[in-house]
Amino acid sequence: MIQDKVVIVTGASSGIGEATARLLASKGARVVLGARREDQLKKLAEAIQSAGGQAVYQVLDVTDPADNTRIVEQAQKAFGSVDVMFLNAGIMPTAPLSALKTDEWNQTVDVNIKGVLHGVAAVLPTFIRQKHGHIITTSSVAGLKAYPGGAVYGGTKWFVRDFMEVLRIESAQEGTNIRTATIYPAAIKTELLGGISHPGSAEAMTALYRQHGISADRVASVVAFAVDQPDDTNITEFTVGPTTQPW
Ligand code: NDP
Repeated sequence: MIQDKVVIVTGASSGIGEATARLLASKGARVVLGARREDQLKKLAEAIQSAGGQAVYQVLDVTDPADNTRIVEQAQKAFGSVDVMFLNAGIMPTAPLSALKTDEWNQTVDVNIKGVLHGVAAVLPTFIRQKHGHIITTSSVAGLKAYPGGAVYGGTKWFVRDFMEVLRIESAQEGTNIRTATIYPAAIKTELLGGISHPGSAEAMTALYRQHGISADRVASVVAFAVDQPDDTNITEFTVGPTTQPW
């Protein structure tokens, strides 16, 4: 059931996070929006509210553990609980390793891996205490198969896959009743390619997304499906992408 659930969405200022927040709010969820761009979050919260939904926002840099703690506190303060944490913030600065974009390697690890760790650390005590909760992450098809230019990005998304699987198993063993779902999208039209600084990779990715990319709404529907499942049912993995893309 989605109605009345309190859902924190990281990376809510654009793309998949934004689409998911809009959809869940339209189905009665109370959403807590997090990302760095406050103007975008404010606009989205206002749009959700004018459509009759409930939303608050909090500026969040997922690489900062304190920001992750703060957004969980903000959810509790605004809505009294947290039911779902959608750890979706991410970056994809695609480039061949030979370009040695080491700053981007580190940044990708900080956002895509440590951001997930900080988010889980922030919400887990609440979920364990209430013996109820749902952690959903956006991995990628890059977390399922290797491709040139995606060594570091893909590595971070493989990490998410393994981490979520262990989280699921441990939660079941410990009887904490925490559900997990990992989403593996292929080409989805969002702002993600804006972070590619390597010209050849940017060009190739832009052509790929122009040819195949589908709307972020498709991923939002999958997240909503996972959230909507009864508490005793854990659907752990979804791969979703364009019918035409041979990923
Ligand atoms: P967007 O670039 O549109 O969205 C990325 C979101 O992450 C933005 O809201 C951005 O907000 C946020 N973000 C980035 N860095 C940080 C940070 N340090 N702290 C907090 N928020 C941050 O792209 P998508 O919607 O496509 O990306 C969402 C997720 O989907 C990512 O994890 C991505 O890897 C994954 N994905 C996307 C695919 C695609 O084809 N689009 C395919 C497979 C996976 P802000 O800049 O305001 O902080």
